[in-house]
Amino acid sequence: MTASFSLHGIGISHGIAIGRAHLVSHATFEVSHYAIEPGQTSAEVRRLERAVQDVRHELKTLRAEMAADDRLEEMEAFIDVHETLLNDEVLAANVKAYIAEHGCNAEWALVQQMDSWVAQFEKIEDPYLRERQFDVMQIVERILKRLMGRPGLLPKSDDEAHMVLVAHDLSPADLLQFKRHPFAAFITDLGGVTSHTAIVARGLGVPALVGTRHARKLLREGELVIVDSTCGAVIVNPDHAILSEYRKRQQAQEARQEALKTLKRRRPRTRDGVEVTLQANIDVLDDIDKVRESGAQGIGLFRSEFLYLDREALPDEETQFEAYRHVVEGMEGRPVTLRTLDLGADKMRGGIDSLARVAPNPAMGLRAIRLCLAEQPLFMTQLRAILRASAYGKIKLLVPMLGGGDEIRLLLAAVEEAKRRLDEEGVAFDRALEIGAMIEVPSAALALGPFLRQFDFLSIGTNDLTQYLLAVDRTDEAVSYLYNPTHPAMLRLLAQVLKRANQAEVPISLCGEMAGDPEMTWLLLGLGLRQFSMPANGLLAVKERVLSANVGVLQRAVARIVRAEEPGKVKALIEKLNRG
Ligand code: PEP
Ligand code: MG
Repeated sequence: MTASFSLHGIGISHGIAIGRAHLVSHATFEVSHYAIEPGQTSAEVRRLERAVQDVRHELKTLRAEMAADDRLEEMEAFIDVHETLLNDEVLAANVKAYIAEHGCNAEWALVQQMDSWVAQFEKIEDPYLRERQFDVMQIVERILKRLMGRPGLLPKSDDEAHMVLVAHDLSPADLLQFKRHPFAAFITDLGGVTSHTAIVARGLGVPALVGTRHARKLLREGELVIVDSTCGAVIVNPDHAILSEYRKRQQAQEARQEALKTLKRRRPRTRDGVEVTLQANIDVLDDIDKVRESGAQGIGLFRSEFLYLDREALPDEETQFEAYRHVVEGMEGRPVTLRTLDLGADKMRGGIDSLARVAPNPAMGLRAIRLCLAEQPLFMTQLRAILRASAYGKIKLLVPMLGGGDEIRLLLAAVEEAKRRLDEEGVAFDRALEIGAMIEVPSAALALGPFLRQFDFLSIGTNDLTQYLLAVDRTDEAVSYLYNPTHPAMLRLLAQVLKRANQAEVPISLCGEMAGDPEMTWLLLGLGLRQFSMPANGLLAVKERVLSANVGVLQRAVARIVRAEEPGKVKALIEKLNRG
């Protein structure tokens, strides 16, 4: 029997999955791994050589097309780089050696080699040279397409629903592609608890573990694994006793989910009569069915950037308009809080990748509203699409990453300009469209006055607020032990923001991941929060906590928690609070 072992990581959603490991790479480079017979090595190498030859022809044709079109002149430099890489004998020799040494297929060898080249490029200080890793990726992608005769996809298997994806790293865009397959769970070596990959996973409702460091190296294709994302553990090749224990736990969990469904129509009101609003976060359009099933009172956060991540080219106004209209009509009168593009940091794709990739520190660079204000045509297209869709239902416009000052003025001017142009064209939109700001940069939280005065509503983004307040990258597992949304500094800031907004009677919601954690519900109610927005599949568990809460009692206990100055003390006090 194969040896059993376990790995630990950061569980990013609750639940247990039992399935077979499927090793994957970056979605674009998604290839299957298979062993080749020892006598087949030369044939496999020849297959690789043929694919490389085909790509040489492809580049030649491209070059000829460019020569005929002046506008494409500068692209020639890229072809030069690609041809150089293609003809590099050391690179080719490495891949061939990998095939021979590991007895594996050419696609797999190529992607493994690419990963190690990319890792070397990553270490280069010079941003220009570091950028060349994308050329390597592009050329590898071309060869892969030739080898496989199609873009990479997951294998079609009868057992997809029990497939556990094991990857070194996955971007949110990768996960969106995998979304088309009903996989059971995923495990990655890298990643933090509120990275956008984690958020997509939570939205999918699949158990997932990030930051396992070595899973991709240690696990083998087809091995049986238990993913326990509540405890942050993966058990590989479990014995019968463990397997049956986990099957029992899985059944208990499913039974609990069924029981929660009875709360769907209950009004979220605390025992002492305080009304609470529970809304859902969505990342992609098909989440809307889940939102309806959860009984959410609206959409508190529509991360519109996922429309941009799911495709190669930027979506035009019409595509966006149709998407927004689809969501707003699907919500049948309930509000849809549509957040403008929050691209940048760990969410990049399509024609604007290059803008953010050169940033030395993307999370603090040209992200979200900063990118939109710098790229006015891009922003204008989105604003027009949103405004047009607002004629079809209740849309609220939400803007991410505002720091204050001139940004607010420029943003409001851009919205006015979009309205003016639509008016000129005689196009209908909701004239009473509310505009809100995310409070997720410490400067906004601390100097809240202009936000209270100039916006119709606010929404606290605790995922980023934690990252920026504590200076802890939300995507980096190496510092994830420091990432703590209930850090005393965070609680003080949250208490202050909620108090000021409530006093000023400006509606305020919280749409970071902590809104969907039932263990945070009482704490947040005690801090003064009345509107929560979260992944739809966690909503009923939060509602259960709301129904059993007594806000009067919670406020007194939470005031004590806010005074604590040690993270450990806060943790203990929250546990005590939750015990009731
Ligand atoms: C947040 O930062 O808390 C938030 C909700 O936005 P995102 O996770 O998309 O950055
Ligand atoms: Mg954010």
